[in-house]
Amino acid sequence: MDFEFSEEQKMLISTLEKFTQKECSPEFARSIDESEEFPHELYRKMADLGFMSLPFPSKYGGMSGTVIDEVLLIEYLSKASAAIGLTYFLSTCFGGKSIEFFGTEEQKNYYLPKLFSGDMMFSLALTEPGGGTDILGSLKTVAVKDGDRYIVNGQKTFITGAHVADYLVTVVKTGKDTDKKSGGMSVLMIDAKSPGITMRRLHKLGIRATGTNEIFFTDVIVPAQSLMGVENRGWSQVVNTLNNERVTLAALSVGVGQAALETALEYAKVRVAFSKPIGAFQSIQNYLAEMATEVEMARLLTYKAAWLQSRGIKCAKETAMAKLAASEIGFKAAVKGMRIMAGYGYMMEYDMQRYFRDAELFLFAPITNEMVKSFVAMEMGLPRAY
Ligand SMILES: Cc1cc2nc3c(=O)[nH]c(=O)nc-3n(C[C@H](O)[C@H](O)[C@H](O)COP(=O)(O)OP(=O)(O)OC[C@H]3O[C@@H](n4cnc5c(N)ncnc54)[C@H](O)[C@@H]3O)c2cc1C
Repeated sequence: MDFEFSEEQKMLISTLEKFTQKECSPEFARSIDESEEFPHELYRKMADLGFMSLPFPSKYGGMSGTVIDEVLLIEYLSKASAAIGLTYFLSTCFGGKSIEFFGTEEQKNYYLPKLFSGDMMFSLALTEPGGGTDILGSLKTVAVKDGDRYIVNGQKTFITGAHVADYLVTVVKTGKDTDKKSGGMSVLMIDAKSPGITMRRLHKLGIRATGTNEIFFTDVIVPAQSLMGVENRGWSQVVNTLNNERVTLAALSVGVGQAALETALEYAKVRVAFSKPIGAFQSIQNYLAEMATEVEMARLLTYKAAWLQSRGIKCAKETAMAKLAASEIGFKAAVKGMRIMAGYGYMMEYDMQRYFRDAELFLFAPITNEMVKSFVAMEMGLPRAY
C-alpha cells in the first residue's frame, strides 16, 4: 500500500493550485454564479494548459493520464468553484470518456482532438421528464432508422451545459423492449444545432454557471454514422461513462467539502465572541474536527475508487460508496460551515451559502443516494429493492 502521489501527480496538484489561485478567484466564482454565465474564456485556458487531454490515451492526442488525474483535476477546480469543476467534467466525462469507451475509431479521431483543443463541448442527454431514477422505465425518446439516418423525437430534461454544447451524447430507444429492461437503447452523438432541436433554460439553486436545460427533439435528422458503439446495446455501453461520472462527481463533492472546511476554519480564527475567537469554543472545534475527518474519509474512498478504475479493476460498488459518502459529507460540511458562520453564512456576499447550494445537487444527481444504497446493498448479496 502506498499513499504517496507520483511526481507527475504532485506537479499536477501544484499546477492546479497555481491555476485556481490566478484564474478562479473567489470574486470570479461569485460573478459566474450571479450572472449564470458559462465561463467560456476560462474553459479555453484549461484546454490550452492540456487539462482536457490529460486523462486520455496518447494515441488520440491525449496525455495518457489516469482516472486519478481526472479526479485530482475536478477536486481542485471544484474547491475553487463547483461550477468550474463541472464545466471541466461535462465535456471530458460525458463527451470524451463516452467516445473513448464506446465510440468508433473514426469518432475518436474526429471528436477527441477537438475536445482537447477546447473547440468542441459536449453534454449528456439521458434524463427524461418521467423520472431519472427509473430511467430505463421512463425513457421515451425514440430514434427510428430511415436508410442512412435516424429520425429522433422526444424530450429530455435537466441537461446541463446543453445550451453551450456542440454535441449532445443522447440516449434513445431504437429497438423494441427485450426481456431486459435495458434492451433496445442506443447512444447517438447529436449535433446540438440540428433543425428540430429546441431548448429551454431552467433556473436552478446551485452550480448556476453551467446552466441546465429542457430539450425537445422534433423530427431531428441524425446521420446513421452518429451511432456510438452498437445499436440497441446503448445501456451496457453508457454504464461505463456513468461509473466515470460517479467517481469524478465524488471528487467534486470532496472539493466543495474542502472549500467549506477551509472557509469555516479561517472564519473561526477571526470571528470574536466573549473576547475570544469562536474557534476557541469546544462546539466550534468539534464541528471543524468532524468536517476535517469526514472530508478526508470521503477523499480516501474517492481516491480508492479512482485507483481501482485506473487499473481496470471491477469497482462498481466502491465507486457507488465513494459517490454516496462524498456527496453526503460535502453537503454536511457546508451545513456545518453555515452553523459556524451563522448570520454571515446566510448572506450572499459570503461563499458558504454557495457551497451549501452547490453541494445539495450531488445528494440526488447523477443518481439519488437512496438508489445508491439499494445498489450497494444488492452488491452485498441482498435482493434487488427496485
Ligand atoms: C441541476 C441538475 C443537473 C442535471 N444534469 C443532468 C445532465 O446533464 N444529464 C442528465 O441526463 N441528467 C441530469 N440531471 C438529472 C439527474 O440525474 C436526476 O435528477 C436524478 O437522476 C434524479 O431523478 P429525478 O430528479 O427525476 O427524481 P425521481 O427519479 O423522480 O426520484 C424522486 C425520489 O424518489 C426516490 N426513488 C425513486 N425510486 C426509488 C426506489 N426504487 N427506491 C427508493 N427511492 C426511490 C428517489 O431516490 C428520490 O428521492 C440533472 C439534474 C439536476 C437537478
